[in-house]
Amino acid sequence: MTTTTDAAPETRSFEADVAKLLHLMVHSVYSDKDVFLRELVSNAADACEKLRYEALSDARLGSGEPPRITIMLDPDARQISIEDNGIGMSEADMVDALGTIARSGTKAFMDRIAASQEAEGAQLIGQFGVGFYSAFMVADRVVVLSRRAGTETAARWASDGLGTYSVEQIDPVDAPAHGTRVLLHLKESASAYTERYNAERIIKAQSGHVPVPIVLREKPD
Ligand code: ADP
Ligand code: MG
Repeated sequence: MTTTTDAAPETRSFEADVAKLLHLMVHSVYSDKDVFLRELVSNAADACEKLRYEALSDARLGSGEPPRITIMLDPDARQISIEDNGIGMSEADMVDALGTIARSGTKAFMDRIAASQEAEGAQLIGQFGVGFYSAFMVADRVVVLSRRAGTETAARWASDGLGTYSVEQIDPVDAPAHGTRVLLHLKESASAYTERYNAERIIKAQSGHVPVPIVLREKPD
């Protein structure tokens, strides 16, 4: 079944705290930008774990395929994507999760930031692990395609991290069967993240404990 919609994408403003956090990310002098990959891989693994848990009580969820995280490198397009076959997000989930500061860790981070100097703020990024929004340290555009497990609709979220994001329903054939793909259009200064050895190095160093297999691919031409 396909669900199409001719509604234009809806543009929304980030919650004020998110806008503040994004400003910090984009202008941060924090040098260890590698943490973005750890954060996105950790979200992908969380999503796989959530699906496993929910499928215990609802056998219709999931396809039965083993959990997997696929990282796709595309040097020519200067893009990297992180895809999981986990629980996925509906359009409403995206608005909640990717437009507000829902997580308590990030709230604590913002409180510390408010009380600190800019330079110290940069160091706090590494200590707190600031989640999804860290993608904007390396990307000037982030697109999220997702389909919530057990549903027939998919959604697309996109933002340049500058105050607004768009969200819309899309044809499910354009999204993972269930799960999420986070596509980063890398800044020119971050193009090295499309190099395999770099991605491998970061995954080994920072995501070694992740309980879901990580597959690294280069975009076939
Ligand atoms: P945290 O992981 O601590 O909750 P993040 O900023 O990393 O904070 O992510 C915010 C929220 O966005 C997550 O709690 C989750 O609801 C949603 N999210 C992010 N990435 C994914 C994903 N790959 N699959 C499903 N949901 C996701
Ligand atoms: Mg996270």
